[in-house]
Amino acid sequence: MRQRRMLWQLFPSFVLVVALAAGGVYLYTRQAYRTAHYHEAVHDLEMRARLAERVITPYLDAHDNDALDSLVVALGRAGRTRFTVVGADGRVLADSEEDPKHMEQHRFRPEIAAALRGEMMASRRYSSTLQRHMLYTAVPVLADDRVVGVVRTAIPEDAAEGGIGTVTGTLAGDVVVGGLLLVLLAAVISRLVARSVVRPIGDLRAGADRFARGEFDYALPAAGHQEIAGLAQAMNEMAAQLHERMEAIGRRRNEQEAILAAMVEGVLAVDTSERILTLNAAAARLLRIRPEEAVGRSVPEVVRNSELHRLVSETLHSGAPVEGTIELAGDDERQLQVHGTTLRDGSGNAAGGVIVLNDITRLRRLENIRTDFVANVSHELRTPVTSIKGFLETLLDGAMDRPEDARRFLEIIKRQADQLNNIIEDLLALSRLEQERDGEGCEVTRRPVGGVLRSAVQSCESRAREKGIALLCEGDLDLVAPINPSLLEQALVNLLSNAITYGPAGSTVRAGARRSVEGVELFVADEGPGIEPRYHERIFERFYRIDKARSRDQGGTGLGLAIVKHIARAHKGRVTVRSAVGQGSTFSIHLPHSA
Ligand code: ADP
Repeated sequence: MRQRRMLWQLFPSFVLVVALAAGGVYLYTRQAYRTAHYHEAVHDLEMRARLAERVITPYLDAHDNDALDSLVVALGRAGRTRFTVVGADGRVLADSEEDPKHMEQHRFRPEIAAALRGEMMASRRYSSTLQRHMLYTAVPVLADDRVVGVVRTAIPEDAAEGGIGTVTGTLAGDVVVGGLLLVLLAAVISRLVARSVVRPIGDLRAGADRFARGEFDYALPAAGHQEIAGLAQAMNEMAAQLHERMEAIGRRRNEQEAILAAMVEGVLAVDTSERILTLNAAAARLLRIRPEEAVGRSVPEVVRNSELHRLVSETLHSGAPVEGTIELAGDDERQLQVHGTTLRDGSGNAAGGVIVLNDITRLRRLENIRTDFVANVSHELRTPVTSIKGFLETLLDGAMDRPEDARRFLEIIKRQADQLNNIIEDLLALSRLEQERDGEGCEVTRRPVGGVLRSAVQSCESRAREKGIALLCEGDLDLVAPINPSLLEQALVNLLSNAITYGPAGSTVRAGARRSVEGVELFVADEGPGIEPRYHERIFERFYRIDKARSRDQGGTGLGLAIVKHIARAHKGRVTVRSAVGQGSTFSIHLPHSA
């Protein structure tokens, strides 16, 4: 196909060259032939005139014009030539075609004028006598070196050119046939040239196609014409460079992808119309979107959060780094810190933006817990202190003198002081536990959990009895686990005392041990009011109490479960609660097989 196209480009040029050359040859040859033919005709006429001159001279000398005319007529017929004899004065003396008497003065006819000067000249012009175009020659008739007359010979011009037509016709035929042969030759040459040029170009193109498909192992053969071989070599070098660059780009892309995938921060790249170009796994997780659905769509389409949209568009339009915090609503509410930076192309124009997302939910929660903690500690301490101070002032103001009041107030003061002591004890216990957690964890030994359980139950028995609650110890008390007995006992006492506090009189509290997937589970189950699921996590926070007043009346500090949680952690275990409103609660400490 390509070869044919090339052929049709070459062939007309060849045909044009052949046509021009053939036309040129034809015109030149025709002209050359005409010139030669003219000269021959002139020479021929001159010869005839010279021959006639010899015959005519005696008649001229004798001034016998009638005889001269007869002679000239005879000569004209024999030679198929017009003969005219002109006297030295230019008068026509005899003519083979016309009666001389009717002929005008011929002195100024160019050929005759020249002959009268002694020269020979040919002339081509219209004969007014014969009324046709004629070719003339005239020679002088000399007597003693004097011009005594002129013999002129003439033939019609078409007779002079009679042969030319046939000859040029044949010539034209030959030129056309030769031209056609040359055109045929041109077609063959065009085809050969097209093939020799197109085939290597086709090979180059096929090679370029393979390079485009990424087959960089392929090398174009650098053979054939020097230009084509040079081009092939240049293309091979280009392919090698391309291969190297693509590998470098691929390596860099893989590195970037690995880095992005390993990042905890979410990274999102958007173009100028806020369409997502790429995002890493962390970004997809934080924004709760699926990467394959998000890429190519705009941020507002994918994430419904007006603050995020505002930050993204500010990043794209401000040109300066943008920072902000967004909150994502949902089952697990999240707070994300957003950093936006403009993405620029090679020439420094804004091409989009990069958004980095940091999950600060935990950090914020910890901050809140810490501030709450300080506020809570102050508040918790202030309540008994205010109370103590109040009663002491009342005593000092005179109540001291009323023994009954004084005793009642002192008992209240003692209770509040105990509460203060409890809080301080619990806080110290917590801080010790936290320090241990920062270190290697508490010291543990493998032993049966029964002993710890029994002594915890024992220490809570009197309180249970007071409230009319039955305390039962059950399950497999011989189960062995790596434990720190005193800490574990404290945790169990905390759970048991809560169970007694919140369990109604006449109910049963069961404490025990059982085997679990993780290792050993120690549980304390009561028949109390139960806990709503939304509080299940919060009750383990420090000072968190569902019903503050009730807890405080019972001498609770709000730190009991926080201590249990820390003790479980110190054992590399955890604490859980199973409870529903009105169905009692079961708190469990899960201890691993090995600490
Ligand atoms: P407190 O000293 O107030 O008991 P805790 O940390 O031991 O503090 O408990 C935190 C909160 O959890 C309590 O105020 C109470 O509201 C709830 N709670 C703990 N144990 C039970 C239980 N067995 N039944 C019902 N609610 C409980």
